[in-house]
Amino acid sequence: MTSVLIRTGLLVLTTALLGCGASGGGPNSPTPTTGPSVRFVYAAPPDRIYRADYAAGISSAFQDLQSWYREELGGVTFSLFRSSPEYCVLPREADYYRDDSWTRLMTDIQGCLPVMYDSPDFRWVLYADIMHTCNAPGRIGAASRGVTIMGRVDLEGLSGRVMANDCGNVDNMPIGRWRGGAGHELAHTFGLPHPPGCAEGLPACDHGSLMWLGYRTYPNTYFSDEEKTQLRLSAFIY
Ligand SMILES: [Zn+2]
Repeated sequence: MTSVLIRTGLLVLTTALLGCGASGGGPNSPTPTTGPSVRFVYAAPPDRIYRADYAAGISSAFQDLQSWYREELGGVTFSLFRSSPEYCVLPREADYYRDDSWTRLMTDIQGCLPVMYDSPDFRWVLYADIMHTCNAPGRIGAASRGVTIMGRVDLEGLSGRVMANDCGNVDNMPIGRWRGGAGHELAHTFGLPHPPGCAEGLPACDHGSLMWLGYRTYPNTYFSDEEKTQLRLSAFIY
């Protein structure tokens, strides 16, 4: 699936940006959790309407993943900052985010929420209702340093539908595949890499782990013992 992107450039947190989206979790969100937590965001450009089914799909996925992690990790899991996604309206129309999507989204989201790398308080999960141009630089559907960003194909998948991805391919899989994808990227934000040998195509690769092909068969997948040990060391798992 995706690799953890290592970004060594300086992080620029721009606060004075074009436009400013609404934030907040909506009327159904309880008081935010106070400990280290996972904070998920639904961001849409102004030429896309708010989709209640997208918001519901994200909420359901993360509640399901929270339970699945707890089961896998023997009683500990991550906390959710809110039970429903915080909503942001991006300052520019969808086409602007087709290229260099990662950086443009990270920059423009700052006008709405303080999404940042390596935060001691939050792991950020950003769903943006945009499409990324096939093979263009700055793709999404990846994770880096405590942040993951996914796009419209995942939003559709979490809502129980399938659509062609940025390269025109249709991944005709049930909703579990998209929840599994979210759980995989989330684990990257906790610092988990892909299993040893997988990227190199070695036989030792643990193919069934959520951290390799297991995301496609979620919830029928697992973390290896090594992965469980590493996750339990995360400040976000308690
Ligand atoms: Zn990955």
